[in-house]
Amino acid sequence: MPVVHWFRRDLRLADNPALGAAVRAARDAGDEVVALYVLDPALWRTSGRPRLAYLAASLAALAESCDGRLVVRHGRAQEVVPAVAREVGAAEVHVTAATEPYGRQRDDAVVRALGDAALVPTGSPYAVGPGRLTTQAGEPFQVFTPFRRAWLDHGWAAPAPRPRAIPWAQVRSDPLPDAPATEARLPAAGEHAALRRWHAYLEDGLAGYASARDRPDLDATSVMSVPLKWGEIHPRTLLADLAALPRRAGGPSADDVTRFRSELVWREFHADVLWHHPGARTRSLRPVLPDDAWARGAAADAAFEAWCAGRTGYPLVDAGMRQLLATGWMHNRVRMVVASFLVKDLHVPWQRGAEHFLAHLVDGDVAQNQLNWQWVAGTGRDAAPYFRVFNPVTQGEKFDPDGDYVRRWVPELREVAGAAVHRPWDLGLTRPADYPERLVDHARERERALADLQRGKAERAAR
Ligand SMILES: Cc1cc2nc3c(=O)[nH]c(=O)nc-3n(C[C@H](O)[C@H](O)[C@H](O)COP(=O)(O)OP(=O)(O)OC[C@H]3O[C@@H](n4cnc5c(N)ncnc54)[C@H](O)[C@@H]3O)c2cc1C
Repeated sequence: MPVVHWFRRDLRLADNPALGAAVRAARDAGDEVVALYVLDPALWRTSGRPRLAYLAASLAALAESCDGRLVVRHGRAQEVVPAVAREVGAAEVHVTAATEPYGRQRDDAVVRALGDAALVPTGSPYAVGPGRLTTQAGEPFQVFTPFRRAWLDHGWAAPAPRPRAIPWAQVRSDPLPDAPATEARLPAAGEHAALRRWHAYLEDGLAGYASARDRPDLDATSVMSVPLKWGEIHPRTLLADLAALPRRAGGPSADDVTRFRSELVWREFHADVLWHHPGARTRSLRPVLPDDAWARGAAADAAFEAWCAGRTGYPLVDAGMRQLLATGWMHNRVRMVVASFLVKDLHVPWQRGAEHFLAHLVDGDVAQNQLNWQWVAGTGRDAAPYFRVFNPVTQGEKFDPDGDYVRRWVPELREVAGAAVHRPWDLGLTRPADYPERLVDHARERERALADLQRGKAERAAR
């Protein structure tokens, strides 16, 4: 009896305990492993081109790793998975557990549809499975620092060995999806590319991370969010490599390693919050503003469109939004600035910005995206307080001090030297005519955001 391994957010063979379990079960039965990937047309329709192009490339790489025997089928998982199990006569379908709301619901539906066959989950896309850690009172964590302490105390497993000579079954497959045309310059996809990028980063990029990670002009971060999102690499592998790093002169400091690991814990924290509060995908965990504070109508739509296109007249915001359109990725510091600008300067609800991000980000991930948006909007767990309004000009001057990042993404400003690029309105007659005027006045909108916050507080107190 063959065994099915259904790949989802684990597009790799190494350090994949669920695949290991499938291979062991198949060997015990003296049979083969069916490598299945289900392309749900609903997901395909709603994803942006950069994401689909990346997924197509990643599936092509996975198919090669599976000796060309990856079985791609189109359709809804609750129909396709039981159909494939019946077709090959499998009693077990192995998966890496889904932890986000859509995946959990889909898996419940698949379990019901599988009938006598079993869905066997092993592991998750996280070092410590979401929902596993609780406070001493048995409650979900609300605050990051105690979560990180508990996470460190709990520890995590060593990377699972890569199964050797997997007996892949030959089963009819639909063609691999074509990568849709996109102008975005995407990172190389697939498990091998992820490992190569990670090893190069350990060798050359991690040293100085603690001080340079906030500088979008320096390319100082790992861009591992992309392979982590698709499961081309597991955080366990990153954590094991970080722990085994030899100390060498000029290499990463203890601070660099601790800081990098701490960012990975944020990833785990957000997944844990979403596990306990699946509604956080669309709803603020802690509403802070009165309902009438949000901009609506044609003017709000036009402001949102200008933000999406990178034409707000604020250079750091525009550079970030154009980096997103051009590459499907954006630096974390700039994500915070553009998100704050949308919510607190343009008064557009975070959900709208989050949807735009999810359509375009190649690392777009419900837990990380929605909870980071809620962090910036002041509505999440352990979020930045709402009164912290990022100033897009001083953020630019601080984190892009010579203006290189802005000039890279905003060609209209390429001739403006140095930090002056962050204040084009001060350039007088030399101001590039094709760069947009400021859409709003930051100082005035900040006052409005803070006044709305006070009204929200008063309304809640009066209830
Ligand atoms: C509004 C907004 C939306 C975001 N949406 C996403 C998203 O959809 N998917 C996503 O993976 N990240 C998201 N992030 C978090 C963060 O911006 C990216 O993970 C980070 O920029 C990835 O770059 P990197 O891999 O070079 O990071 P590094 O600095 O190299 O960090 C290493 C790893 O730590 C994790 N990490 C770093 N920062 C964060 C963070 N703030 N929250 C959670 N994990 C983090 C990532 O897995 C990252 O790969 C968002 C942040 C904001 C402010």
